[in-house]
Amino acid sequence: MNQNAPFRARAEIDLAALRDNVRALRARAPRAAVMAVVKSDGYGHGMVPCAKAALAAGATWLGTATPEEALALRAAGIDARVLCWLWTPGGPWREAVEADVDMGVSDPWALGEVVRAAREAGRTARIQLKADTGLGRSGCQPADWASLVAEARAAEATGSVRVTGLWSHFACADEPGHPSIAAQLSVFRDLVAYAEKEGIEPEVRHIANSPATLSLPETHLDLVRTGIAMYGISPSPELGTPADFGLRPVMTLKVSVALVKGVPAGHGVSYGHHYITDTETALGLVPVGYADGIPRHASGRGPVLVGGAWRRVAGRVAMDQFVVDLGPDGAARVQEGDVAVLFGPGDRGEPTAEDWAEAADTIAYEIVTRIGARVTRVHLNELDG
Ligand SMILES: *Cc1c(COP(=O)(O)O)cnc(C)c1O
Repeated sequence: MNQNAPFRARAEIDLAALRDNVRALRARAPRAAVMAVVKSDGYGHGMVPCAKAALAAGATWLGTATPEEALALRAAGIDARVLCWLWTPGGPWREAVEADVDMGVSDPWALGEVVRAAREAGRTARIQLKADTGLGRSGCQPADWASLVAEARAAEATGSVRVTGLWSHFACADEPGHPSIAAQLSVFRDLVAYAEKEGIEPEVRHIANSPATLSLPETHLDLVRTGIAMYGISPSPELGTPADFGLRPVMTLKVSVALVKGVPAGHGVSYGHHYITDTETALGLVPVGYADGIPRHASGRGPVLVGGAWRRVAGRVAMDQFVVDLGPDGAARVQEGDVAVLFGPGDRGEPTAEDWAEAADTIAYEIVTRIGARVTRVHLNELDG
């Protein structure tokens, strides 16, 4: 792709930064394997290029939510270990077994479906038993663990499955000192000990997500599942900035200004007229909106670097566009085709995804993940082959 070609909106994905981030995470968890979590199109960054970059930098596992995502990695020719964990009844178990995908299993219904698929395929399925150690989302409750372990052992005895992992997920790893962290880790250790006593021999035991990887070394165990940190974003501002952890944001969102025009004082701007110009001024039209993942909640607040200065969204974010007030001399400094940077690493004067998260009262995970399919991804610094 011609990187100088004109564009409406594009997300530049710096794969060199992603590789450096993976190396920084490996250094932080030196005894653990790194699972690069690439669900939801690599948190909006493009799943396959990010998966390849992460593997090139030493990640040895990939993690996805859905089996369809895992199968898409296989279809792209990626043969690393892949764990997927978000199953629904009737899911593509057989395809996943045949594609050598590791499957998260939280419940007997899922174990039953995977056993049937493995028999039909004539293969041994790799499963990883997931415990709910306190998150209260997916995972097997401690009270039901003994029977899930017993059923898994029975299935192992018939050769239809092999339990390759035991795992869980934290509720509050981004809140240092939260009492649930130690409590969950302790429950997890007990459940692992029980399963091993019953004869399960997992390759990997894991519970750490990005915040745990960055701040809780005692949780690293055999493998860390890192998502947001790999994309160079801090899991929460309270924990630290990306730079504090040696991370660099991977995505830069650039938009070409579509129109610059003078308007008189007292002119209403965008739906509902929530912004009224206070002087004669120049408005700049930024042609992305909530259909592109720009949060409508950031109306009146979201920051943009354009014409060398930060401007805030003036009035409402619409489906396809929003407006910034460029000031009385704006037309002298900004023209159509100039680039407005919505967010990036932040070291060239631009805002960050975290700034947008603050403006929209959400988390930076949501900002990058929701950038829509209409925004072209341009992968920079891709390794050959
Ligand atoms: C998304 C997800 C992760 C990665 O979380 P980050 O906070 O982005 O590192 C890890 N494990 C599971 C089960 C997940 O769903």
